[in-house]
Amino acid sequence: MSLRFHIHTYGCQMNVRDSEAVAAMLAAAGHVRAEGEEDADLVIVNSCTVRQKAEEKAVGKVGNLIAAGKIVGLAGCAAERMGEEVFRRLPKLHFAVGPRQLWRIPAIVAEFESAPPGRRPRRVLAVGAGELPRGLDAHLAAADGSFAAVQSYVTVMVGCDNRCSYCIVPSVRGREWCRPETEIVAEVKCLAARGVKEVCLLGQSVLRYRGDGGRAFPHLLRELQEVEGLERIRFTSAHPAGCTEELIAAYRDCPKVCRHLHLPVQSGSDRILKSMGRRYDRAEYLDAVARLRAFDPEFALTTDVIVGYPGETDEDFEATRSLMEEAGFDNAFVFKYSPRPGTRAAEMADDVPAAEKERRDQVLLADQERRGLERNLRLVGSLRAVLTEGPSKRNRERWSGRDSGNRIVVFPPVDGVSVGDEVKVRVAEAHAQILVGEVVK
Ligand code: SAH
Ligand code: SF4
Repeated sequence: MSLRFHIHTYGCQMNVRDSEAVAAMLAAAGHVRAEGEEDADLVIVNSCTVRQKAEEKAVGKVGNLIAAGKIVGLAGCAAERMGEEVFRRLPKLHFAVGPRQLWRIPAIVAEFESAPPGRRPRRVLAVGAGELPRGLDAHLAAADGSFAAVQSYVTVMVGCDNRCSYCIVPSVRGREWCRPETEIVAEVKCLAARGVKEVCLLGQSVLRYRGDGGRAFPHLLRELQEVEGLERIRFTSAHPAGCTEELIAAYRDCPKVCRHLHLPVQSGSDRILKSMGRRYDRAEYLDAVARLRAFDPEFALTTDVIVGYPGETDEDFEATRSLMEEAGFDNAFVFKYSPRPGTRAAEMADDVPAAEKERRDQVLLADQERRGLERNLRLVGSLRAVLTEGPSKRNRERWSGRDSGNRIVVFPPVDGVSVGDEVKVRVAEAHAQILVGEVVK
Protein backbone atom coordinates (compact mmCIF):
# COMPACT_ATOMS: atom_id res chain seq x y z
CA MET A 1 0.00 0.00 0.00
CA SER A 2 1.19 3.46 -0.70
CA LEU A 3 0.83 6.23 1.85
CA ARG A 4 0.79 9.96 1.31
CA PHE A 5 3.46 11.37 3.57
CA HIS A 6 4.61 14.75 4.79
CA ILE A 7 7.71 15.67 6.78
CA HIS A 8 7.77 18.63 9.12
CA THR A 9 11.30 19.81 9.93
CA TYR A 10 12.58 21.81 12.90
CA GLY A 11 16.13 22.83 13.70
CA CYS A 12 19.38 22.96 11.79
CA GLN A 13 20.56 22.21 8.25
CA MET A 14 21.50 18.67 9.27
CA ASN A 15 17.83 18.08 9.97
CA VAL A 16 16.83 19.57 6.63
CA ARG A 17 19.18 17.16 4.88
CA ASP A 18 18.02 14.25 7.04
CA SER A 19 14.42 15.01 6.12
CA GLU A 20 15.29 15.04 2.42
CA ALA A 21 16.93 11.67 2.83
CA VAL A 22 13.90 10.23 4.65
CA ALA A 23 11.56 11.62 1.99
CA ALA A 24 13.66 10.05 -0.75
CA MET A 25 13.69 6.68 1.03
CA LEU A 26 9.92 6.76 1.50
CA ALA A 27 9.42 7.72 -2.15
CA ALA A 28 11.72 4.88 -3.20
CA ALA A 29 9.55 2.53 -1.12
CA GLY A 30 6.52 3.57 -3.17
CA HIS A 31 4.99 6.23 -0.95
CA VAL A 32 4.06 9.62 -2.35
CA ARG A 33 4.65 13.12 -1.09
CA ALA A 34 1.45 14.83 0.05
CA GLU A 35 0.75 18.41 -0.93
CA GLY A 36 0.88 19.36 2.71
CA GLU A 37 0.22 17.98 6.13
CA GLU A 38 -3.59 18.08 5.76
CA ASP A 39 -3.76 15.54 2.97
CA ALA A 40 -1.06 13.26 4.34
CA ASP A 41 -1.76 9.86 5.96
CA LEU A 42 1.68 9.74 7.54
CA VAL A 43 3.41 12.75 9.07
CA ILE A 44 6.96 12.66 10.37
CA VAL A 45 8.12 15.44 12.66
CA ASN A 46 11.88 15.78 12.45
CA SER A 47 12.77 17.46 15.72
CA CYS A 48 15.46 19.50 17.44
CA THR A 49 16.38 19.48 21.13
CA VAL A 50 19.18 22.04 21.26
CA ARG A 51 16.96 24.25 23.40
CA GLN A 52 13.99 23.27 25.54
CA LYS A 53 11.66 25.46 23.44
CA ALA A 54 12.62 23.64 20.25
CA GLU A 55 11.73 20.32 21.80
CA GLU A 56 8.41 21.61 23.12
CA LYS A 57 7.46 22.86 19.66
CA ALA A 58 8.01 19.44 18.12
CA VAL A 59 6.13 17.65 20.92
CA GLY A 60 3.24 20.10 20.60
CA LYS A 61 3.12 19.57 16.86
CA VAL A 62 3.05 15.79 17.25
CA GLY A 63 0.19 16.09 19.75
CA ASN A 64 -1.88 18.08 17.25
CA LEU A 65 -1.19 15.65 14.42
CA ILE A 66 -2.17 12.66 16.53
CA ALA A 67 -5.40 14.45 17.44
CA ALA A 68 -6.00 14.94 13.70
CA GLY A 69 -5.90 11.16 13.22
CA LYS A 70 -2.63 10.86 11.32
CA ILE A 71 -0.02 8.14 11.57
CA VAL A 72 2.73 10.08 13.32
CA GLY A 73 6.43 9.49 13.78
CA LEU A 74 8.76 11.66 15.82
CA ALA A 75 12.24 11.69 14.30
CA GLY A 76 15.50 13.41 15.14
CA CYS A 77 17.21 14.81 18.20
CA ALA A 78 14.23 15.24 20.56
CA ALA A 79 13.21 11.61 19.94
CA GLU A 80 16.75 10.53 20.77
CA ARG A 81 16.92 12.58 23.95
CA MET A 82 13.56 11.41 25.27
CA GLY A 83 13.95 7.73 24.44
CA GLU A 84 11.27 5.61 26.18
CA GLU A 85 9.94 8.71 27.93
CA VAL A 86 8.55 9.90 24.59
CA PHE A 87 5.72 7.33 24.79
CA ARG A 88 4.82 8.50 28.29
CA ARG A 89 4.48 12.04 27.03
CA LEU A 90 2.81 11.02 23.76
CA PRO A 91 1.07 7.68 24.40
CA LYS A 92 -0.50 7.59 20.94
CA LEU A 93 2.70 8.26 19.04
CA HIS A 94 3.32 5.52 16.44
CA PHE A 95 7.10 5.57 16.27
CA ALA A 96 10.14 7.51 17.46
CA VAL A 97 13.45 7.39 15.61
CA GLY A 98 16.75 9.04 16.53
CA PRO A 99 19.02 10.79 14.02
CA ARG A 100 21.29 7.75 13.58
CA GLN A 101 18.43 5.34 12.86
CA LEU A 102 16.48 7.28 10.26
CA TRP A 103 17.26 4.76 7.53
CA ARG A 104 14.98 2.31 9.37
CA ILE A 105 11.88 4.44 8.78
CA PRO A 106 10.70 2.71 5.56
CA ALA A 107 10.79 -0.70 7.28
CA ILE A 108 9.04 0.67 10.35
CA VAL A 109 6.33 2.17 8.15
CA ALA A 110 5.94 -1.13 6.28
CA GLU A 111 5.35 -2.88 9.61
CA PHE A 112 2.57 -0.45 10.39
CA GLU A 113 0.95 -1.06 7.05
CA SER A 114 0.97 -4.81 7.45
CA ALA A 115 -0.73 -4.72 10.85
CA PRO A 116 -4.12 -6.50 10.84
CA PRO A 117 -6.97 -4.06 10.13
CA GLY A 118 -8.43 -2.54 13.26
CA ARG A 119 -5.46 -3.63 15.37
CA ARG A 120 -3.07 -0.96 16.44
CA PRO A 121 0.43 -2.16 15.60
CA ARG A 122 3.18 -2.21 18.18
CA ARG A 123 4.84 1.16 18.53
CA VAL A 124 8.51 1.31 17.66
CA LEU A 125 11.41 3.11 19.34
CA ALA A 126 14.65 3.22 17.35
CA VAL A 127 17.40 5.23 19.03
CA GLY A 128 21.11 4.85 19.78
CA ALA A 129 24.15 4.48 17.61
CA GLY A 130 23.88 1.38 15.45
CA GLU A 131 26.87 0.49 13.28
CA LEU A 132 28.39 2.87 10.75
CA PRO A 133 26.21 5.81 9.74
CA ARG A 134 23.81 4.86 6.96
CA GLY A 135 21.64 6.73 4.51
CA LEU A 136 24.02 9.70 4.17
CA ASP A 137 23.35 10.05 0.47
CA ALA A 138 19.84 8.63 0.48
CA HIS A 139 18.47 11.92 -0.87
CA LEU A 140 20.11 10.99 -4.17
CA ALA A 141 17.51 8.27 -4.54
CA ALA A 142 14.75 10.86 -4.96
CA ALA A 143 13.57 9.78 -8.38
CA ASP A 144 10.25 11.60 -8.19
CA GLY A 145 11.48 14.94 -9.48
CA SER A 146 11.18 16.59 -6.09
CA PHE A 147 14.90 17.00 -5.90
CA ALA A 148 16.23 20.50 -5.16
CA ALA A 149 17.78 21.60 -8.42
CA VAL A 150 20.08 24.47 -7.54
CA GLN A 151 21.38 23.88 -4.04
CA SER A 152 21.98 20.77 -2.04
CA TYR A 153 23.33 19.83 1.34
CA VAL A 154 26.06 17.21 1.54
CA THR A 155 27.00 15.51 4.79
CA VAL A 156 30.74 15.35 5.37
CA MET A 157 30.75 14.58 9.08
CA VAL A 158 28.27 13.27 11.58
CA GLY A 159 28.31 13.60 15.35
CA CYS A 160 30.55 15.79 17.48
CA ASP A 161 33.51 15.12 19.77
CA ASN A 162 33.66 18.62 21.20
CA ARG A 163 32.14 18.81 24.62
CA CYS A 164 30.90 22.35 24.84
CA SER A 165 29.42 22.58 28.32
CA TYR A 166 25.97 23.75 27.27
CA CYS A 167 25.43 21.52 24.26
CA ILE A 168 23.32 18.39 23.94
CA VAL A 169 24.34 17.64 20.35
CA PRO A 170 27.14 15.16 21.18
CA SER A 171 24.78 13.09 23.29
CA VAL A 172 22.04 12.88 20.66
CA ARG A 173 24.13 12.71 17.49
CA GLY A 174 26.98 10.65 18.88
CA ARG A 175 30.68 10.43 18.18
CA GLU A 176 32.33 12.34 15.39
CA TRP A 177 32.75 10.39 12.17
CA CYS A 178 34.13 11.62 8.84
CA ARG A 179 32.77 10.32 5.60
CA PRO A 180 35.48 9.12 3.17
CA GLU A 181 36.60 11.81 0.71
CA THR A 182 35.94 9.58 -2.30
CA GLU A 183 32.32 9.16 -1.26
CA ILE A 184 31.80 12.89 -0.78
CA VAL A 185 33.39 13.74 -4.13
CA ALA A 186 31.29 11.07 -5.87
CA GLU A 187 28.12 12.46 -4.36
CA VAL A 188 28.96 16.03 -5.36
CA LYS A 189 29.74 14.90 -8.93
CA CYS A 190 26.43 13.14 -9.09
CA LEU A 191 24.61 16.23 -7.82
CA ALA A 192 26.41 18.52 -10.27
CA ALA A 193 25.51 16.19 -13.14
CA ARG A 194 21.87 16.63 -12.15
CA GLY A 195 22.15 20.40 -12.32
CA VAL A 196 22.98 21.29 -8.72
CA LYS A 197 25.06 24.49 -8.78
CA GLU A 198 25.79 24.94 -5.11
CA VAL A 199 26.58 22.48 -2.36
CA CYS A 200 26.75 23.17 1.35
CA LEU A 201 28.97 20.73 3.22
CA LEU A 202 27.57 19.85 6.62
CA GLY A 203 29.15 18.90 9.91
CA GLN A 204 29.04 20.20 13.49
CA SER A 205 32.63 21.35 13.18
CA VAL A 206 33.65 20.75 9.55
CA LEU A 207 37.14 22.21 9.84
CA ARG A 208 38.00 19.19 11.99
CA TYR A 209 37.35 16.98 8.98
CA ARG A 210 40.02 14.40 8.25
CA GLY A 211 40.02 12.55 4.97
CA ASP A 212 42.15 9.75 3.54
CA GLY A 213 45.59 9.64 5.14
CA GLY A 214 44.53 12.28 7.65
CA ARG A 215 44.29 15.01 5.02
CA ALA A 216 42.61 18.12 6.37
CA PHE A 217 39.44 19.87 5.21
CA PRO A 218 41.12 22.34 2.78
CA HIS A 219 42.18 19.37 0.66
CA LEU A 220 38.54 18.36 0.26
CA LEU A 221 37.75 21.90 -0.92
CA ARG A 222 40.48 21.63 -3.55
CA GLU A 223 39.03 18.38 -4.83
CA LEU A 224 35.53 19.78 -5.01
CA GLN A 225 36.79 22.88 -6.83
CA GLU A 226 37.49 20.52 -9.76
CA VAL A 227 33.94 19.17 -10.02
CA GLU A 228 32.56 20.15 -13.38
CA GLY A 229 29.26 22.04 -13.43
CA LEU A 230 29.47 22.90 -9.74
CA GLU A 231 29.68 26.65 -9.17
CA ARG A 232 29.65 27.22 -5.45
CA ILE A 233 30.85 25.46 -2.35
CA ARG A 234 29.74 26.44 1.13
CA PHE A 235 30.23 24.69 4.43
CA THR A 236 29.06 24.96 8.03
CA SER A 237 29.79 25.15 10.99
CA ALA A 238 33.34 26.28 11.61
CA HIS A 239 35.59 26.71 14.62
CA PRO A 240 38.33 29.38 14.75
CA ALA A 241 41.01 26.76 15.35
CA GLY A 242 40.40 25.57 11.80
CA CYS A 243 40.95 29.02 10.27
CA THR A 244 44.52 28.16 9.34
CA GLU A 245 46.79 29.50 6.62
CA GLU A 246 46.05 26.26 4.79
CA LEU A 247 42.35 27.13 4.77
CA ILE A 248 43.01 30.67 3.56
CA ALA A 249 45.27 29.30 0.81
CA ALA A 250 42.40 27.06 -0.29
CA TYR A 251 40.09 30.09 -0.38
CA ARG A 252 42.64 31.89 -2.52
CA ASP A 253 43.05 29.02 -4.98
CA CYS A 254 39.42 27.90 -5.16
CA PRO A 255 37.07 30.55 -6.57
CA LYS A 256 34.08 28.24 -6.13
CA VAL A 257 34.49 28.32 -2.36
CA CYS A 258 32.21 31.10 -1.13
CA ARG A 259 33.61 34.02 0.81
CA HIS A 260 31.47 33.43 3.85
CA LEU A 261 31.99 31.62 7.09
CA HIS A 262 29.54 30.85 9.84
CA LEU A 263 31.84 31.03 12.82
CA PRO A 264 29.91 30.64 16.07
CA VAL A 265 31.56 32.65 18.84
CA GLN A 266 29.02 32.02 21.66
CA SER A 267 30.52 34.69 23.95
CA GLY A 268 33.05 37.50 23.97
CA SER A 269 34.08 36.94 27.59
CA ASP A 270 37.16 34.82 28.22
CA ARG A 271 35.77 33.67 31.55
CA ILE A 272 32.58 32.38 29.91
CA LEU A 273 34.38 30.88 26.90
CA LYS A 274 36.55 28.93 29.32
CA SER A 275 33.56 27.64 31.24
CA MET A 276 31.89 26.69 27.94
CA GLY A 277 34.94 24.66 26.96
CA ARG A 278 35.16 26.37 23.58
CA ARG A 279 38.97 26.08 23.42
CA TYR A 280 39.69 29.59 22.13
CA ASP A 281 39.75 32.96 23.78
CA ARG A 282 38.54 36.31 22.58
CA ALA A 283 41.93 37.27 21.14
CA GLU A 284 42.27 34.01 19.19
CA TYR A 285 38.79 34.37 17.79
CA LEU A 286 39.40 37.97 16.69
CA ASP A 287 42.71 36.90 15.20
CA ALA A 288 40.92 34.37 12.97
CA VAL A 289 38.50 37.12 11.92
CA ALA A 290 41.38 39.48 11.13
CA ARG A 291 43.12 36.88 8.96
CA LEU A 292 39.96 36.21 6.94
CA ARG A 293 39.27 39.91 6.44
CA ALA A 294 42.92 40.57 5.54
CA PHE A 295 42.51 37.98 2.81
CA ASP A 296 39.28 39.59 1.58
CA PRO A 297 37.84 42.75 3.19
CA GLU A 298 34.36 41.80 1.93
CA PHE A 299 34.59 38.35 3.50
CA ALA A 300 31.20 37.76 5.18
CA LEU A 301 31.05 36.47 8.72
CA THR A 302 28.03 35.26 10.62
CA THR A 303 27.85 33.84 14.11
CA ASP A 304 25.89 32.26 16.94
CA VAL A 305 25.81 33.84 20.38
CA ILE A 306 24.35 32.60 23.64
CA VAL A 307 23.06 35.13 26.18
CA GLY A 308 22.38 34.33 29.83
CA TYR A 309 24.82 31.44 30.20
CA PRO A 310 25.21 30.49 33.91
CA GLY A 311 27.05 33.22 35.76
CA GLU A 312 27.06 35.66 32.82
CA THR A 313 27.47 39.11 34.39
CA ASP A 314 26.78 42.49 32.85
CA GLU A 315 30.49 42.77 32.24
CA ASP A 316 30.62 39.41 30.40
CA PHE A 317 27.66 40.48 28.33
CA GLU A 318 29.29 43.80 27.43
CA ALA A 319 32.35 41.82 26.34
CA THR A 320 30.14 39.87 23.93
CA ARG A 321 28.69 43.13 22.64
CA SER A 322 32.09 44.65 22.00
CA LEU A 323 33.43 41.48 20.39
CA MET A 324 30.50 41.47 17.98
CA GLU A 325 31.28 45.05 17.05
CA GLU A 326 34.99 44.37 16.60
CA ALA A 327 34.34 41.30 14.49
CA GLY A 328 31.85 43.24 12.39
CA PHE A 329 29.45 40.36 11.87
CA ASP A 330 27.24 40.51 8.82
CA ASN A 331 24.56 38.53 10.59
CA ALA A 332 24.13 36.86 13.98
CA PHE A 333 21.82 34.33 15.58
CA VAL A 334 21.27 35.07 19.25
CA PHE A 335 20.06 32.31 21.57
CA LYS A 336 18.87 32.55 25.14
CA TYR A 337 20.64 29.96 27.23
CA SER A 338 18.53 26.89 27.92
CA PRO A 339 19.83 24.19 30.28
CA ARG A 340 19.91 20.77 28.61
CA PRO A 341 19.74 17.53 30.61
CA GLY A 342 23.03 15.72 30.99
CA THR A 343 25.25 18.64 29.96
CA ARG A 344 27.90 20.08 32.28
CA ALA A 345 26.30 23.52 32.25
CA ALA A 346 23.01 22.03 33.43
CA GLU A 347 24.70 21.33 36.77
CA MET A 348 25.37 25.01 37.25
CA ALA A 349 22.67 27.40 38.45
CA ASP A 350 20.69 28.87 35.55
CA ASP A 351 21.00 32.18 37.37
CA VAL A 352 20.34 34.85 34.76
CA PRO A 353 16.63 35.72 35.11
CA ALA A 354 14.45 35.17 32.04
CA ALA A 355 13.72 38.90 31.77
CA GLU A 356 17.43 39.68 31.74
CA LYS A 357 18.08 37.04 29.04
CA GLU A 358 15.35 38.67 27.02
CA ARG A 359 16.87 42.12 27.50
CA ARG A 360 20.33 40.94 26.43
CA ASP A 361 18.82 39.19 23.43
CA GLN A 362 17.06 42.39 22.35
CA VAL A 363 20.18 44.50 22.83
CA LEU A 364 22.26 42.21 20.62
CA LEU A 365 19.57 42.02 17.97
CA ALA A 366 19.29 45.82 17.84
CA ASP A 367 23.08 46.12 17.62
CA GLN A 368 23.15 43.58 14.81
CA GLU A 369 20.35 45.31 12.92
CA ARG A 370 22.35 48.54 12.89
CA ARG A 371 25.64 46.78 12.14
CA GLY A 372 24.11 44.71 9.34
CA LEU A 373 22.78 47.89 7.73
CA GLU A 374 26.13 49.67 8.08
CA ARG A 375 27.97 46.77 6.53
CA ASN A 376 25.50 46.45 3.68
CA LEU A 377 25.61 50.21 2.98
CA ARG A 378 29.26 49.82 2.10
CA LEU A 379 28.23 47.58 -0.78
CA VAL A 380 25.93 50.10 -2.45
CA GLY A 381 27.18 50.68 -5.98
CA SER A 382 29.12 47.41 -6.08
CA LEU A 383 28.47 44.52 -8.45
CA ARG A 384 27.47 41.23 -6.84
CA ALA A 385 27.62 37.86 -8.56
CA VAL A 386 24.26 36.37 -7.60
CA LEU A 387 23.08 32.79 -7.97
CA THR A 388 19.40 33.15 -8.83
CA GLU A 389 16.96 31.30 -6.57
CA GLY A 390 13.65 32.52 -8.05
CA PRO A 391 10.81 34.72 -6.75
CA SER A 392 11.58 36.37 -3.43
CA LYS A 393 9.69 35.06 -0.39
CA ARG A 394 8.57 38.50 0.74
CA ASN A 395 7.71 40.01 -2.62
CA ARG A 396 6.80 37.56 -5.35
CA GLU A 397 7.27 40.22 -8.01
CA ARG A 398 10.95 40.34 -7.32
CA TRP A 399 13.55 37.67 -7.66
CA SER A 400 16.19 36.85 -5.14
CA GLY A 401 19.48 35.04 -4.89
CA ARG A 402 22.67 35.15 -2.86
CA ASP A 403 26.11 36.52 -3.43
CA SER A 404 29.27 34.66 -2.49
CA GLY A 405 29.03 36.14 1.03
CA ASN A 406 25.57 34.55 1.41
CA ARG A 407 23.95 38.00 1.38
CA ILE A 408 20.40 37.99 0.03
CA VAL A 409 20.18 40.12 -3.11
CA VAL A 410 16.77 41.08 -4.55
CA PHE A 411 16.18 42.38 -8.09
CA PRO A 412 13.40 42.74 -10.69
CA PRO A 413 13.26 39.63 -12.91
CA VAL A 414 14.69 40.02 -16.41
CA ASP A 415 13.99 38.04 -19.57
CA GLY A 416 16.28 35.16 -20.24
CA VAL A 417 17.37 34.67 -16.64
CA SER A 418 16.24 31.45 -14.97
CA VAL A 419 16.62 29.85 -11.57
CA GLY A 420 20.17 28.59 -11.13
CA ASP A 421 21.74 31.21 -13.40
CA GLU A 422 24.44 33.45 -12.07
CA VAL A 423 23.77 37.13 -12.75
CA LYS A 424 25.59 40.36 -11.96
CA VAL A 425 23.55 42.73 -9.86
CA ARG A 426 24.45 46.38 -9.25
CA VAL A 427 23.44 47.23 -5.66
CA ALA A 428 21.25 50.33 -5.42
CA GLU A 429 19.80 50.00 -1.92
CA ALA A 430 20.91 48.40 1.31
CA HIS A 431 18.88 47.12 4.24
CA ALA A 432 20.02 45.25 7.34
CA GLN A 433 19.06 41.86 5.89
CA ILE A 434 18.98 42.38 2.11
CA LEU A 435 20.59 44.20 -0.78
CA VAL A 436 18.40 45.50 -3.62
CA GLY A 437 19.59 46.19 -7.15
CA GLU A 438 19.24 45.53 -10.85
CA VAL A 439 20.72 42.96 -13.17
CA VAL A 440 23.54 44.31 -15.31
CA LYS A 441 23.85 42.66 -18.71
N1 SAH B 1 28.02 22.60 15.98
C1 SAH B 1 27.67 23.97 15.87
C2 SAH B 1 26.48 24.40 16.68
C3 SAH B 1 25.33 23.50 16.76
S1 SAH B 1 24.06 24.04 17.86
C4 SAH B 1 28.89 24.75 16.29
O1 SAH B 1 29.44 24.52 17.35
O2 SAH B 1 29.28 25.61 15.55
C5 SAH B 1 23.62 25.62 17.14
C6 SAH B 1 23.71 26.76 18.10
O3 SAH B 1 22.76 26.60 19.15
C7 SAH B 1 25.02 26.89 18.84
O4 SAH B 1 26.02 27.53 18.08
C8 SAH B 1 24.65 27.67 20.07
O5 SAH B 1 24.77 29.05 19.85
C9 SAH B 1 23.20 27.32 20.29
N2 SAH B 1 23.03 26.47 21.46
C10 SAH B 1 23.52 25.23 21.65
N3 SAH B 1 23.15 24.77 22.88
C11 SAH B 1 22.43 25.76 23.46
C12 SAH B 1 21.78 25.90 24.73
N4 SAH B 1 21.83 24.92 25.63
N5 SAH B 1 21.12 27.04 24.98
C13 SAH B 1 21.06 28.04 24.06
N6 SAH B 1 21.65 27.96 22.86
C14 SAH B 1 22.33 26.84 22.56
FE1 SF4 C 1 27.60 21.45 20.34
FE2 SF4 C 1 30.06 22.41 20.61
FE3 SF4 C 1 29.64 20.19 19.16
FE4 SF4 C 1 28.80 22.56 18.25
S1 SF4 C 1 30.94 21.97 18.59
S2 SF4 C 1 27.63 20.65 18.28
S3 SF4 C 1 28.20 23.62 20.12
S4 SF4 C 1 29.33 20.42 21.37
